[in-house]
Amino acid sequence: MKIESVQVDLLKVPANMLYEAAGHSVSHNWHILSRIVVADGTEGIGWLVNTRPAFIYSLYEATKELGDLLVGENVYKNEYLYGLMNSYGNWVGPGGFLNMAMSSLDIAVWDVKAKLAGQSVSNLLGGNSNSVNSYASDRLWYSMPIEELLESAKQHVAAGHSRIKLRIGKVENISEQINRINRLKEAYEHLEIMLDATESWNSSEARSFGEALSKAGIIWLEDPIYHLDLKGLRVLKENLSVPIAGGEHLYTFESFRDTVDNSSLDVVIIDLSRVGGVTPWIKVAHMCESANILLAGHVLPEFHVHLLSAVTNGYLVEDMPRSENIIRTKLEINQGNMMVPQGNGFGIELDEDACARYKVS
Ligand SMILES: [Mg+2]
Repeated sequence: MKIESVQVDLLKVPANMLYEAAGHSVSHNWHILSRIVVADGTEGIGWLVNTRPAFIYSLYEATKELGDLLVGENVYKNEYLYGLMNSYGNWVGPGGFLNMAMSSLDIAVWDVKAKLAGQSVSNLLGGNSNSVNSYASDRLWYSMPIEELLESAKQHVAAGHSRIKLRIGKVENISEQINRINRLKEAYEHLEIMLDATESWNSSEARSFGEALSKAGIIWLEDPIYHLDLKGLRVLKENLSVPIAGGEHLYTFESFRDTVDNSSLDVVIIDLSRVGGVTPWIKVAHMCESANILLAGHVLPEFHVHLLSAVTNGYLVEDMPRSENIIRTKLEINQGNMMVPQGNGFGIELDEDACARYKVS
């Protein structure tokens, strides 16, 4: 079916609270929102969300330019459309900025394809399950005092979560962090705790901190060291009892393949925007399946719940509600599972008034 129009908007959406993440102060969730309309009037949507304004206007312009290439083409031919965008922009690729610029358009293509089929994207891609294990990730920043952390955990448990993920940065001593974990476990006996070290440690810190955290009973350790130190990650994986997770910083097939070949991770986290959209996401997912590696999604739960539920190795979806102020649909959490939304496509209804209010270009 012919693509009649592609519209790309830049939205500056206020965050519900100010916070510090990865050393940056976050006040807004920037969205690049793509809409694709086909001949029968069906509209598909996709977006990219980022907490930092750096390069966002450039990325928006690049997405618009790529979107123009799709007009007049057949929406079913996602591989062809992907190739069209990729070859147009390959002088700034592969990966990186180009993948980010293509991602919201490719997501919108899949939203249309599933809507035309009268199916959810989850079903269209395989429909392995109606739900995915999930974890809460919002309002659990390392800058928060323990009392605020306990309050966040309370709200997450009340919302149906049974897993939360804490961040940790550069630390002198791990005992204070262990203390925070113990306080949370005392308050919520059945709560499973994950930890993201945000690539903050060297290899000896990762070994000793990782061992202490394993004993404290965390269920995964994410990005303990730099993500391209594949050998270092493998050594940690072989020597620590806690599963090692990572992958959100990877863009290309080659980097995922090297990670898989080096047996560097127990859980591969795919970032839907960085990998370039649904079309490449599925290929990486199957590549991981062939090596018995579990998958998680980095942010974008509205899309990742469909993708992770579609495949057999989908493990955990990250409940990070950065887009809740522009959508009417709410993701349902039930006893630590995120349910695949009903409805065709991604099952997302935009709040058009909010989109108009926050649109800056
Ligand atoms: Mg992370």
